[in-house]
This record gives sequence, structure tokens and C-alpha cells, in this order.
Amino acid sequence: MSLEYSNFINGQWVPARSGATFSRENPATGENTGSYPQSSAEDVAAAVCAAGEAARGWRRTPAPKRAEILFRAAELLVRRKEEFARDLTEEMGKVIAEARGDVQEAIDMTYYMAGEGRRQFGQTTPAELPDKFAMSLRAPVGVVGLITPWNFPMAIPSWKIMPALILGNTVVFKPSQFSPKSAHNLVKTLEEAGLPPGVLNLVHGSGSTTGAALIEHPDVRMISFTGSNAVGKQIAVRCAELGKQVSLEMGGKNAITILDDADLDLALDGVVWSAFGTTGQRCTAASRVIVQSGVHDAFAEKLVARTKKLRLGNGLDNATDVGPVVNKDQLDKVASYIPIGRGEGATLLCGGNVAKGDGLNGGYFFEPTVFANVKPSMRIAQEEIFGPVTALIKVDSLEEAVEVNNGVPYGLSSSIYTRDVNQAFRAIESLDTGIVYVNAGTIGAEVHLPFGGTRGTGNGHREAGTAALETFSEWKSVYVDYSGRLQRAQID
Ligand code: NAP
Ligand code: MG
Repeated sequence: MSLEYSNFINGQWVPARSGATFSRENPATGENTGSYPQSSAEDVAAAVCAAGEAARGWRRTPAPKRAEILFRAAELLVRRKEEFARDLTEEMGKVIAEARGDVQEAIDMTYYMAGEGRRQFGQTTPAELPDKFAMSLRAPVGVVGLITPWNFPMAIPSWKIMPALILGNTVVFKPSQFSPKSAHNLVKTLEEAGLPPGVLNLVHGSGSTTGAALIEHPDVRMISFTGSNAVGKQIAVRCAELGKQVSLEMGGKNAITILDDADLDLALDGVVWSAFGTTGQRCTAASRVIVQSGVHDAFAEKLVARTKKLRLGNGLDNATDVGPVVNKDQLDKVASYIPIGRGEGATLLCGGNVAKGDGLNGGYFFEPTVFANVKPSMRIAQEEIFGPVTALIKVDSLEEAVEVNNGVPYGLSSSIYTRDVNQAFRAIESLDTGIVYVNAGTIGAEVHLPFGGTRGTGNGHREAGTAALETFSEWKSVYVDYSGRLQRAQID
């Protein structure tokens, strides 16, 4: 049975005007998980128009009242967590425990941003002149367009939708074609929580058509995008031409550094979790492990033994450690890096194949893979693979580890394992990434801290925490002169 889902425009669940649809399959089994509107520029225009019309009322709704809707949405998400987690696993493959975490992150973000309904602090400050008052206020940007990937299909949309809404923006949301059900679940929850029509609109469809139409629409003031560097760059160029604000969260090539004095078993847990959790399909995945020479061989041996024990399978099965990759293209991409790594002289320690066997043949499974003898300049050490593949790089010192860590085009997350507090603080200072972990892997961000990265990972914005408020609002500086005469700043 194939379920049919709709767009959400101006408070109505509607098909694409053309009637076109696309369907999504479960990457573990190949089963159809639903069909969705393949939206055209016309559908996008209807959604932008609805968001534009809703903008005045929403911006004038007191922020604490907006917050009550978010708070109710968070309560509903809590109640539906298990159902939404199962839907999420069925459409993009991550294991159920991690899917619950994905929904939990959306819950956390929704509560957190509901709290911002009573904060959104500006400043009051003395003015230069007598009988003059100065303050700064936050104002909404306007209609914002959100474009998101499939790997955190509840969490990432919530990082954008919740701050956008609490600040008084109205939204048109284009989720990934590979995780449309989770987008549906999130938007439906906000509808049921009482969001007025037009404030949040959902248009399903492909990036090249639906996403591009959203970027092109003249009434969309800002684009917030999470996805690959290649697409993000194109969007940045187009937004510059169109004079739009743009916030980009893109790829990573994250590393865990293990120094000679580290607790090796603790580091092993962190590496396995960070490299193979979400089947390596996290922007913060540890696809490089930089190991100091004194412990390199011992660590490699432990890592291979543990990796070989990981059980592949359907993410709904509680015994599964690693689910499928998201689709055929991604499977082919991951597989293509095995001959690339070998060709450049790296040693394949384990994995390296498309996985076949009982319960695996209907899906896109790839064996967890470890390469050793990897040089920092090799493609497997430079390019984002976005699959269950990690590369061991041997170094002699902390200084060399930092150089290797920073010697990639991305700067999202990094981690260091050491028992020496001096080394840890030196690393914190010199690792050029937006997120640094000490004695933990490269994944595990919390919603109240800024999230994002340097260099090829971003364009200077951060999501989550109070940083998200900067992205989704404009500052308005207000001067009230109550002197009753002309007072000239910088002159009188
Ligand atoms: P992607 O291929 O770049 O797609 C991201 C989104 O952009 C999807 O909704 C996609 O639509 C849409 N899109 C594609 N081409 C477009 C275009 N020309 N115009 C407008 N929209 C377009 O990325 P993905 O494969 O979904 O996700 C994986 C990537 O996301 C990885 O690089 C990963 O590192 C990155 N990521 C980054 C973060 C972070 O916060 N830094 C977090 C998670 C993931 P369709 O795919 O539906 O066609
Ligand atoms: Mg893609």
C-alpha cells in the first residue's frame, strides 16, 4: 500500500498543481514508503504568496504567544516520538535508537526556541546627547526559504523552522526528497499545535526544480540551506546575484586525534560511534582518525576487531548496529572510494564491499570500512565520503595532528583524546573547526550551543543556540529624541 502525502500551503493539504508525484523507498528493504507532490515553480509561488500574506499577522503576534504554539508542538512531538522515529528509520535507514535521538533533538530545539519567546533580548544604552534614548530590537527578516538534507530529517528542519518562527518570520520549507515523511510529520505537528495558515508552508520536490524556484522567487528574503558544499556554493552565488541573505551549513571531513597518553578503549568507543553511527552519514562523522605513533598499531588492531563485529541490518531491528546508506547513488559513491584509496596506496584493513546476505539484499548496505597508511593528501583523507568509511593517519606529535586536522577544505567538528590537560587546551586553541570535543567523538552537539563550521563548511553563520537568532532576525536600532529640539549627533 502506498500512502499519498501532500504539500501544505496556506493551511491546506494540497497536491502539486500539475498532479505530478515522486515516491520514496525504504533504503533497507526497497519497499515504497509513500508518494509526494513533485512541486513546480507554480506551487512554490503559491506557498511564498501565502507566507507573504501571513507575515503581517504573525509578526504582530506577541512573541510569547508564538512561543505557546511552539511549546504545544514540543509536547505533541514528545507524545509521537516513537511513531515519528519509526517513520524516520523507514525512510532514511538510521537505526531506531538514533532515529529517536533525531526526534529528541527536534523536541529539544522546539522547547528551547519556545523559551526565546520571552527573551530575544536587545540592548538599551546611553545616548551621546541629553534627552535621547537608544535601544536595539530584533525584527523578522520576512519570508524565509528553508532547504534541508535527509540525514537529520527531524532535527535539521527544526533548527531552522523554530528560530525562524519564534522571531516572527514566515516560512516556505523544501525538505529532501529522501526524507519527506519526517518533514510531513514535523509540519503536521506544528499545524495541530495551532500555527495560523500561511505561517509555515511545505513544498515537496527536487532541489533542481522546487528548491531552485524557492531561491529564485523575489519575495523570499533569505535562504537557509544545509547540504553539500557543491550545492551550497551554487546557492550562495545565486543569492548574491539576487541580493538575498543566505545561511549555509555544508559538509565536513572531521577527525579524531588520539595521543599516546589517551585512554585507548574510550577512544575506540568514540571512533566507532563517530565513524559508523548513522552509517557515517553525519556532517560531523569521523572519517579520519589521526593517531600518534606510540599507540597507532595497537589502536588499529582494536578498531578492526571492533569494526568486524558491527551488525548490518534494518534499522528497526534492535540488534542492528549499522543501517543502510540512504540510496543507490550514495552506495555507488561510497563504493567508488575503495579503489580510489587503494590506488593512492592506502591499505584496506577491513570492509570495502557492498554487503550481501540475509536481510541485506533488498537494501543499500555497505561494510564498515577502515583504511590505514593514509597520507593526509590522499582523496580519502580530503573528500567527504558520507558513508561508513574511515581513514587512519599516523603522526608523531600534537603539532602534526593539528596540521593534519586543519589541512582539509572543511572545518566542522574535531576531537582529541588525551589525559594531559595542557595538550587538551593547546588543541582547543588550534583546531580550526566550529566544534571541538575533548575525550569524546566528533558527534553529539546539544541544541543550546552554536552549531556550524569554518572554511568550506559554512559562510560564517551558526545554527542552534542564540546564534540562530542572529541568522533569522534583523537588528533595528532605535533612537528616541525627547529634547523637543534638533540635536545633531557627532556635532552638538
Ligand atoms: P544536497 O544534495 O546538497 O541536498 C541538500 C538539499 O538541497 C536537498 O533538499 C536537495 O534537494 C536540495 N538541492 C539540491 N540541489 C539544489 C539546487 N540546485 N537548488 C536548490 N536546492 C537544491 O545534500 P544531501 O545529499 O541532502 O545531504 C548530505 C550533505 O549535507 C553532506 O554534504 C553533509 O555533510 C551535509 N550536511 C551538513 C550539515 C551541517 O550542518 N553542516 C548537516 C547535515 C548534512 P533533493 O536532494 O531533494 O533534490
Ligand atoms: Mg544529495
